[in-house]
Amino acid sequence: MSMPEPVEALSPETPLVSLHNVHLSFGDTEVLRGITMEVFRGQAVSVIGPSGSGKSSILRCITGLLRPQRGEILVDGFDVQSLKAEADLIALRKRVGFVFQQYNLFPHLSVLENLILAPVHAVGISRQEARARARALLAKVHLEDKENAYPGQLSGGQQQRVAIARALAMRPDLILFDEVTSALDPETVGEVLGVIRELVEDGMTCVLVTHEMAFAREVSDQVYFTEGGRIVESGPPERLFTDPRCERTRVFLRRGV
Ligand code: ADP
Ligand code: MG
Repeated sequence: MSMPEPVEALSPETPLVSLHNVHLSFGDTEVLRGITMEVFRGQAVSVIGPSGSGKSSILRCITGLLRPQRGEILVDGFDVQSLKAEADLIALRKRVGFVFQQYNLFPHLSVLENLILAPVHAVGISRQEARARARALLAKVHLEDKENAYPGQLSGGQQQRVAIARALAMRPDLILFDEVTSALDPETVGEVLGVIRELVEDGMTCVLVTHEMAFAREVSDQVYFTEGGRIVESGPPERLFTDPRCERTRVFLRRGV
């Protein structure tokens, strides 16, 4: 795996992820109009905003799944825009975990098999080592008794916790969560948020796109509010949620749209 040289030496003050003036269009549609944000190691950063404001696109740019037309994206010092070879993009995605609304577990594989697949085939660790890691991760997401279950036998919240364990199995530097509780029954939302809260407390670097405002307020170090492909406002949650500077943020927090 050949990653290019880091753009700059890493110091504790260097963000793990930084986006600078990122512009993304699909044809004539400008989806991101100059996004600038930073995520420091160990931080939890939330991105909130109305539907269609560009939140998922931001996450997809960070993993190199979408290629912006303009701007700079650095992940751990690597310039994502300059990664051309497929091998380099795959290497980047091993370092950046991604958990979606749809958990997309393999239905014909047991929970344990779902967790060892990528570590064995994409990283090349032994099955024995992968199994040991998978069991430790199942304990972390409080599903140690489900290793032999199949996804269809689990609740939505349990499946999402397996999906989080699967992302952790790659030992990523950070995890991106894109509305991971939006498709869940209300009674299982809390158990998934609980697992994310524990990850944040453990110091895992997280970027959370979420509609769970109370949760974002509780766990985030920094909150970004997006609208129309721009960051309208950002700040620490205790300020942004109680005293938003922009009327648009105020309206969104009041009405949720
Ligand atoms: P959010 O996650 O905040 O709901 P998205 O990042 O998914 O917003 O989408 C932002 C805008 O980009 C939306 O208007 C959406 O319709 C548009 N969009 C997203 N993906 C595509 C695509 N592949 N082609 C065209 N437009 C897209
Ligand atoms: Mg989205």
